[in-house]
Amino acid sequence: MSTDSSLPEPEGVGTFYDATNDLFTRFLGGSTHYGYWTGPDDDSTFEQASERLTGILTDKLRPGPGDRVLDVGCGMGKPGVQLATRTGAELVGISISARDVEVANSRAQSEGCVDRVRFQHADAMDLPFSDDSFDHVLALESIQHMPDRVQALKQIARVLRPGGLVALTDFAERHTGEPQKAEPTDEATVVETWHTAGLIKEGEYSSFASAVGLEVVEVTDISQNTKYTEPRFYGPLHEYAKHNEVPPEITKILEAGPSEEQLKQMIEGDPSFGVILVVLRKPSHD
Ligand code: SAH
Repeated sequence: MSTDSSLPEPEGVGTFYDATNDLFTRFLGGSTHYGYWTGPDDDSTFEQASERLTGILTDKLRPGPGDRVLDVGCGMGKPGVQLATRTGAELVGISISARDVEVANSRAQSEGCVDRVRFQHADAMDLPFSDDSFDHVLALESIQHMPDRVQALKQIARVLRPGGLVALTDFAERHTGEPQKAEPTDEATVVETWHTAGLIKEGEYSSFASAVGLEVVEVTDISQNTKYTEPRFYGPLHEYAKHNEVPPEITKILEAGPSEEQLKQMIEGDPSFGVILVVLRKPSHD
């Protein structure tokens, strides 16, 4: 258990998602991650932009029929089902939220893929799988919730077979070199209301990877594509919360959330808070 009270604690993260994820997925295009837009003229819906990001990570892994993929922090199962349906791979998803697992398994059922896709309750900090038992690992916007990213990656590296790939996204601090017109969103507030650890600093994935015996294939800043997400999320969620009862966790997020000026700045400028896409590889035995 973590001794630093500012670090997220898995059980608390599970309770947070039990209470919030039905609404998050409703206002985030069906999954619980950023959307990926090609630019200011891209009029994709949130769902299309969200599926595009899942597709980009799936393409990094390139699983084939018969491959076994682990989805760490599977949310309500939309990305995992999309990956399995598109590629023919088998997928095991885990979440620390019991509600996530329930919804994800009924999705697999209704999409007719229970023979290849299953979701279970587990803690990523201590994976209940044997060594070298997965061909690839997907961790789409989940590692930022873990109290120790190196421990999470150590577990992932352990269950991955030699030569296997990991594709993940994480939240990173950015040095834009551009004067911020609005106050940047306060990191401590984001961390507290969203139950996350702090932002990744430049270059940190190289040291994480070498600490757990993985190789860095790619670290790409995708913030210019994901930055269209916040205004499309906070606006409609605010509107919904005006007319409907929402869980206290969501009220806190809305109260602490970015101002209209900050949202505008995120789209027009270069955000100081962003998203990175990371691909890692477990070295093959030679
Ligand atoms: N990948 C999904 C969900 C992202 S939200 C999607 O893109 O839609 C973050 C997810 O990580 C939630 O499902 C949350 O329960 C899960 N999570 C966070 N910490 C975890 C932990 N320690 N162990 C397992 N799952 C965790």
